[in-house]
Amino acid sequence: MIVAQERTLAHRVRADFPILQEEVNGQPLVYLDNAATSQKPEQVLKALRSYYEHDNANVHRGVHTLSSRATDAYEGAREKIANFINAASPQEIVYTRNASEAINLVAYTWGWKNLQPGDEIILTVMEHHSNLVPWQIIAQRTGAVLKFVELTETQEFNWEQYCQLLSEKTKLVGVVHISNTLGCINPVREIVAQARRYGAKVLIDGCQSVPHLPIDVQEIDCDWLVASGHKMCAATGIGFLYGKLDILREMPPFLGGGEMIADVFLDRSTYADLPHKFEAGTPAIGEAVAIGAAIDYLSNIGMDAIQAYEHELNAYLFEQLNKIPEVTIYGPQPKADGSGRAALASFTCGQVHAHDLSTILDRAGVAIRAGHHCTQPLHRYLGVQSSARASLYFYNTREEIDAFIEALKEAIDFFSEIFG
Ligand SMILES: *Cc1c(COP(=O)(O)O)cnc(C)c1O
Repeated sequence: MIVAQERTLAHRVRADFPILQEEVNGQPLVYLDNAATSQKPEQVLKALRSYYEHDNANVHRGVHTLSSRATDAYEGAREKIANFINAASPQEIVYTRNASEAINLVAYTWGWKNLQPGDEIILTVMEHHSNLVPWQIIAQRTGAVLKFVELTETQEFNWEQYCQLLSEKTKLVGVVHISNTLGCINPVREIVAQARRYGAKVLIDGCQSVPHLPIDVQEIDCDWLVASGHKMCAATGIGFLYGKLDILREMPPFLGGGEMIADVFLDRSTYADLPHKFEAGTPAIGEAVAIGAAIDYLSNIGMDAIQAYEHELNAYLFEQLNKIPEVTIYGPQPKADGSGRAALASFTCGQVHAHDLSTILDRAGVAIRAGHHCTQPLHRYLGVQSSARASLYFYNTREEIDAFIEALKEAIDFFSEIFG
């Protein structure tokens, strides 16, 4: 009997991504490094090209037709971002180069202005370097003190310890929504509510959540949330900072220059209204158009559908990986339906170095990440130098997971012969 092939979400959308037709080392590309950056659909590439072919001009400057078209496209994309994460207003969305720049913006403006010696910043040991190093710099300059929430036995956010660390001294809590290494989903809504009891502000690193599930910043009630366009089907060079309007308003400017001013005198300036106060110089207009197109693309599929499909894929990934005795996976296990954690797996394989694994897998056309994934302190905490990581997105298929698992098993066999 012939069973009709089930057409999954991935099978429907894969043709949109030209790069997925690539061959690598003579093999079809199996791209499993989505936590580092996502691939881009034709719709986004077209929007970028079309902007330069038809609308290119500088924004907010000219009254000529192209300038107003460019401005509309640029501001229209901001509105799309605001709607996508349910911000109260597009004024709460500041374009940045990426999530890292967005965090630096908050650290250098709000942090520098408000932190005093002895004030405490609570972060977690699972933070990406981007949500760690800026706070180290600001702590060194202001005399503020960094405190760290560690992990539970299942390698998740330690809620009890968090509650013990919070105090009147806590001025800021910075926490990753979904860990790019552990894949755990942190209870951000509860984290914010708890921080509020002490009047602390909360910044959420949404790099791994915004591309994968519906996000509602008003429900989370965070003060800031950051994300990068390139991990959500848009171009590199664009990301955003969401901030509550009254907080953005009281933050001093970050970079100075054109676009961010109201009146300029030789010795002083007044600043533009939000969000332009934080956008000095000619912005990444084409990239903003691309992130708008990416949001349209994701919204057309539906973030609920993306999340549901990733759960399915995740259940399969863990089922297969759990069968390989040499593999140690970090972070919590998913529930039986694949929910409860992100669709990625960081793992080690006994003696085998992650870089060697990744090199062998690359020969089979399988792209996975090897190293510390910008979470070096977390790796140190876990007692490993580095790990390998396979991370999925909605265009990945079960067949690709099969190809990955097969290549992984072959690599393990290869190294077990070497190590004996
Ligand atoms: C990728 C990532 C970042 C940094 O994003 P950039 O685009 O490199 O600025 C920060 N946090 C997490 C959790 C990430 O996955």
